Amino acid sequence: MAKRPPHDFWADAETRMIQPYQANKTYLCPGCNRDIPPGTGHIVAVPPEAADLRRHWHKGCWNGRATRGPRNR
Ligand SMILES: [Zn+2]
Repeated sequence: MAKRPPHDFWADAETRMIQPYQANKTYLCPGCNRDIPPGTGHIVAVPPEAADLRRHWHKGCWNGRATRGPRNR
């Protein structure tokens, strides 16, 4: 059936690029569970119905998330 797996939660998320100069905190990337150090360009993903669940991802982890999942595009 066309039921979505739970991690597909992120499929419709809005993403925003954070430039290195905008990153002035350490964030935890949910893709690899490692820190994103200050000064690192990365991605913010905001789920459409849960803006307070937005997460900061490494670019590579975000891109890998899409291709590694069960539903490739
Ligand atoms: Zn990561």
